[in-house]
Amino acid sequence: MSDDVKFLVKKYSEEFKEKNKRIFYDVLPVDWTDAAFTPEMGGDPTDKAVFNINKKNFWDPDKHMVARDLDNWHRLLPTWQTAVSRVFAGLTRLDTVQALVGVPNIKPFSITAHEAHVYNGFEFYESVHAQSYSRIFQTLLSPEKIVEANDWAGSHPTLSAKLAIFERVYRSGDPALIRIASCLFEGFMFWTSFFLPLYMDGIVDKRLQVTATIIKLIMRDEGIHAYYIGYKFQKQLEEYAKLSSKPFDEALAEIKAYYKQVALDLFFEIYKLEFQYTEDLYEDIGLVDEVKKFLHYNANKTFMNLGYNDELFGPDEATPNAQVIALMNGNTTDDIFSGELSSYKILTHGDINDANWDVVKEVFDKRKDLSHPKVSLNIRD
Ligand code: MN
Ligand code: MN
Repeated sequence: MSDDVKFLVKKYSEEFKEKNKRIFYDVLPVDWTDAAFTPEMGGDPTDKAVFNINKKNFWDPDKHMVARDLDNWHRLLPTWQTAVSRVFAGLTRLDTVQALVGVPNIKPFSITAHEAHVYNGFEFYESVHAQSYSRIFQTLLSPEKIVEANDWAGSHPTLSAKLAIFERVYRSGDPALIRIASCLFEGFMFWTSFFLPLYMDGIVDKRLQVTATIIKLIMRDEGIHAYYIGYKFQKQLEEYAKLSSKPFDEALAEIKAYYKQVALDLFFEIYKLEFQYTEDLYEDIGLVDEVKKFLHYNANKTFMNLGYNDELFGPDEATPNAQVIALMNGNTTDDIFSGELSSYKILTHGDINDANWDVVKEVFDKRKDLSHPKVSLNIRD
């Protein structure tokens, strides 16, 4: 059976290459009118829906007053400060990879004319996410500590080992496999690190409220990315099934079963490293067990996004901290989440308004007195 699927993937790749020979000349004006989304025209209405959700969700990290978190930041023990810095530096590396390599390398495999445009939206926001962490760092950390954190993430062996797996997968030329990897990136790997700011948000003296708000916005984006890429993975399997000589439904069922095993193999390869990474990040602050349950929870979610609905991990292993899940699903006063296509809502709050301006100004004035030690930055080559 697997040889059959491999043959279909090869056939698809050859036809795909042939179609994509003339990369400039064959680009036609994109048509977003309703006519393009009728079944006869082959447009996928989900592309339009997700593209529009992306536009509605535009947000700007610069509008969030991270300085309001300074008091609590200075109350944190150094072990917690280090954990937060490393979590964010690791996320910066992941977002940088997604922005520069991950998302751009899915784009050429777009099944519909609109899919690549959806990825353009994702790609820009990966860059914004990466910039958000710098905004947080600029406010909370000394230049010396920023370099330290980025060096940690830039040279972390487990993080590098995970990226080496992605390197291999993306060179496979199999768009279904690439989408599985991307879905794991968006829906599983990022979330290991999202845990910390969410967890802290539930503890008054550890609360970095503005920082957590930024993280929730990033989570909302990643939730949509994971949903959409998982959905396009399922569409990709249909493209393979169309090439089979067997009846469509029969071929699709076989292909689906084949890729379930492919997804499981890739997942457990990454999962092993994610476990180590979790220990490195969370051991000193005693949260390893909590975070591992969260990993399992996100693994189940990722497989659901890929269209495999039976749970990988049962409730014993995959029931994380209730407070974290409540914050993640938006059971807060912030009203950040709502949603049509994912479990995440559209942003409706404003961070700065007349009512809270005095507080913001007070924190700003305080910030002026805080002088970080000046150090020379050792930029790595
Ligand atoms: Mn991102
Ligand atoms: Mn993403």
